[in-house]
Amino acid sequence: EAVRVEGPEGDRWLLPRGSPVYGEGGGVVGATVLLQDVTRLRRFDELKNDLVATVAHEFRTPLTSLRMAIHLCLEEVAGPITEKQADLLSAAREDCERLQGIVDDLLDLSRLQAGRLVLEVREVSTEAVLEAALAPHRGAAEERGVRLASEQEPELERVEADPERLQLVLSNLVANAVRHTSHGGEVVVRARRDGERVRFEVADTGEGIAPEHQQRVFEKFYRVPGGTTGGAGLGLSIAQEIVQAHGGEMGLSSQPGVGSTFWFTLPQVEVPRPS
Ligand code: ADP
Repeated sequence: EAVRVEGPEGDRWLLPRGSPVYGEGGGVVGATVLLQDVTRLRRFDELKNDLVATVAHEFRTPLTSLRMAIHLCLEEVAGPITEKQADLLSAAREDCERLQGIVDDLLDLSRLQAGRLVLEVREVSTEAVLEAALAPHRGAAEERGVRLASEQEPELERVEADPERLQLVLSNLVANAVRHTSHGGEVVVRARRDGERVRFEVADTGEGIAPEHQQRVFEKFYRVPGGTTGGAGLGLSIAQEIVQAHGGEMGLSSQPGVGSTFWFTLPQVEVPRPS
């Protein structure tokens, strides 16, 4: 992590790198520290973020009117349409929705990276969050013949989190799990206490992820080569940023052909207050 220092010509960002110095006996007797000035890189990053955010923002309004126009045509408000035309318009509507999803992802990500995402942390019912995260995917799961279930430790009633963001994280993971699991498979969402933390897991019996891709799936725009699903490769990086903004961690374990489990922890659990 780069650190900010005040300089005569404004703030500078320095990235420390250190290595230990060993004595004759093999023990550590000191350290060398190198400070790399990464101010220009940092400014470039900010510029890139701003550009992405501006472009994404500018896409939103025209996308909304496009969707509205397509909707009105499909509803035959502008006159009758043929079946073939309806098919084409439906395909256009799906693409609009996909694009809108990507635009929303980009906006979320740029806000997160600019540190401008203000979390509204409060006590949240775990059950309600799990239910809200699962609900939008029940249809898709049923269509694909995938069983969708949640398991929750009984005494784990509430967590401290930004409910909307937490729901987004879970919802992203569930969407991925359902998408990558084939007929007859299962997706289970779990929440349980893990020391001072709450641990959430989304486990699937899907295609799994090969070891060489496992860490890379959290990178921005990274998609496992040869995959067929539609996203832009942003969902997991957003989820990880949100979890880290809460002070938590995120990871996965996966075995190709067997399934994947994505997990994350949140640091605080509500302790029952004496009444
Ligand atoms: P996308 O929007 O493209 O799905 P994500 O960041 O959510 O982007 O995921 C990155 C990549 O990780 C996906 O392209 C997919 O190949 C892989 N992936 C994510 N979740 C799973 C899963 N549950 N099972 C198998 N592969 C997955």
